Amino acid sequence: MVTDVVLQKDYKKYLDELLDECRSNLKVVDESLIRRAFLMSLDAHEGKLRESGEPYFYHPYEVARIVSREIPLDDISVASALLHDVVEDTEYTLDDIRAEFGDVIANIVDGVTKISDVFETREITEAESYRKLLLSMVNDIRVMLVKFADRLHNMRTLEPLSTERQQRLARETLEIYAPFAHRFGLAQIKWELEDLAFKFLNREEYDRIAKQIREKRHERETYIKKFVEGIEQKLKDSNLKYTIEGRPKHIYSIYNKMITRGKPLEEIYDLFAVRIIIDSEKSSDCFLVYSIITQIYKPIPERFKDYISVPKLNGYQSIHTTVVGPGGKMVEVQIRTRAMHEVAERGVAAHWKYKGQSTNLDKEVENWIQWVRDIFEQKEATNPKELLESFKLQLYQDEIYVFTPKGDIKILPRNATPIDFAFEIHSDVGYHCIGAKVNGRIVPLNTLLRSGDQVEIIVSKNQTPNPDWEQFVVTHKAKAHIRRFVREEIRKKAETGKEILEKKLKRRKLHWKEEEIDKFIRSLRYTDRQLFFAAIAEDKIDLDAAIETFLVQTKDKGTTTPDDETTQTLFDKFVATARELVTTISIGGDKDKFLYQHAKCCNPIPGDEIIGFITTGEGIKIHRKDCKNILTLRLAESARIVEVSWPPVNGADYIAGIHIAGDDRPGVLSDITHAISSYQNTNIRSVNMDTKGTAFDGKIILYVKDLDHLNRIMEKLRRIPNVTTVERFTG
Ligand code: MN
Repeated sequence: MVTDVVLQKDYKKYLDELLDECRSNLKVVDESLIRRAFLMSLDAHEGKLRESGEPYFYHPYEVARIVSREIPLDDISVASALLHDVVEDTEYTLDDIRAEFGDVIANIVDGVTKISDVFETREITEAESYRKLLLSMVNDIRVMLVKFADRLHNMRTLEPLSTERQQRLARETLEIYAPFAHRFGLAQIKWELEDLAFKFLNREEYDRIAKQIREKRHERETYIKKFVEGIEQKLKDSNLKYTIEGRPKHIYSIYNKMITRGKPLEEIYDLFAVRIIIDSEKSSDCFLVYSIITQIYKPIPERFKDYISVPKLNGYQSIHTTVVGPGGKMVEVQIRTRAMHEVAERGVAAHWKYKGQSTNLDKEVENWIQWVRDIFEQKEATNPKELLESFKLQLYQDEIYVFTPKGDIKILPRNATPIDFAFEIHSDVGYHCIGAKVNGRIVPLNTLLRSGDQVEIIVSKNQTPNPDWEQFVVTHKAKAHIRRFVREEIRKKAETGKEILEKKLKRRKLHWKEEEIDKFIRSLRYTDRQLFFAAIAEDKIDLDAAIETFLVQTKDKGTTTPDDETTQTLFDKFVATARELVTTISIGGDKDKFLYQHAKCCNPIPGDEIIGFITTGEGIKIHRKDCKNILTLRLAESARIVEVSWPPVNGADYIAGIHIAGDDRPGVLSDITHAISSYQNTNIRSVNMDTKGTAFDGKIILYVKDLDHLNRIMEKLRRIPNVTTVERFTG
């Protein structure tokens, strides 16, 4: 390609020009960084042409120049501008950029590319949501600066595109980028974007207004001159350095005023405007100039605005007033210092330039980014302080903006999944969600959505919510629906399960009362009736076998024996409590933690003599030394036996349980408790006695120091008249 060859040959000239601009506009320039970015961009876009026919490289190059000249922040944003279309349009990947330039630049380029993706494929429907979407995708504010510059250059070179593309880009610019630039305080870029967009959207009006401005130009310049002459001497006397300019009126803003005020162009445009910029650091000089002007030209008091004491939210500072000028014409006057002017024209970048004194660039950029965020978090016409407070917790970064297949935007919290999205659309969609597509690809339902994703939910009439969903959904709506569904499911199943049990009992001619049903449920280790009945419905319980076992148990013990199940429950509790005290065991004196389990056959408790058996997969099984099972194992697999002991417990008591039974007589219970507490002040944790006829049977749980302590108490209990049984709890 001829142009390309020329470009390759002349590239040094282009590079030098860019470096010159960087040097004069930026505080610090890493020239090697700019050079490397320049060369990669040149190489990547080699042979590619824009629609205008010129080498594609001109575009990123011009974008970089806009960044360095019109929104100068730092060399990183200039380098990112050079590289901004590399991933989108060339063989190079993001990883290549990351390898060559590091994470910061790679992330900026990635951000710019993603924004392009989202906006390329969609018609802007809700501008405000799109603006938020855009911001939520931006982690580094330099993404926005590059994007502004990119859009500005595209708008400046829109002519060769098809009318359709022109219209589309112009509308997007007017609705998204221009208001955004305004929020950033980038007045100059905002005006230009608006005027360019307006030109393509309403060429007729644009041309008409532009023509009238041209025609009246001379007349205006003459009048401004006259106005300035009137105040010049006095200003000179004040020894202030200043410049006065006839403020340019922007075509789109004139048009807007014509529409909103319903007035013809002449009336809007005949309002003259003057701007006085003072080369002074003192804002009080602005008030001095104000007093000089109003000594000569009569001010209109209600048009006075002091944006110096109370700056606008985007940082804008200036005095605004309207005075009656020569010939009785109204003249709008703005008075500001040079620094205020820079901020007004170039926004936050300039703000940063004036504020930043330190050499710690990273810190400065960070502060600046925070500052910009603060601006965005404030909405017009509300107390900024209040807003700052209320928005601190919900930066746009905490929300994601995703699209429905139709292109509507849904706002979801960060970490939202397709299930959250489905319930956000409609509870029916959530209930019947069977799958999801994100950006056209089928994904798992727990995939985290990201801003800009397009999400499509696949539904099936027969699908119902999966209880597991609750573990990954984040919206209240989705959580509530899933919970309600699960509860309702259990309730329905429980009803069915209860019916099944009732039928079974009827067939066996058993007339169980609620009480017996409760015992039955407990005998199967269920604590929740609903869950128990639901388990029956789900066929998780062999009901016939369970009833059989229950009948045998209750029959064996007879009516006078206590409910074995209660014993079990109590025993379970007791064992659990006893083991709570001992969270480790020692193996050969080693106090490290080992994976171990208590054998169910002998249920050892602290104080028992114990031995360990090394299992495969379940750690060490702890048995009582006298357990029958371990005796067998000892013979068969002696290699797997380890000596273990309970860890020493410093003064802490063990819990032990005693089963006690006998013939009732007045005062027997009092004798029993007395026997216990009189021995070394032993504490009783609980007593549970049943009396049936003349028999009593019960359990006592006590705190003991050791096994010896327990044995002595048991001895005392055995000596009590009418007590027939005293034994340790066993499994
Ligand atoms: Mn571009």
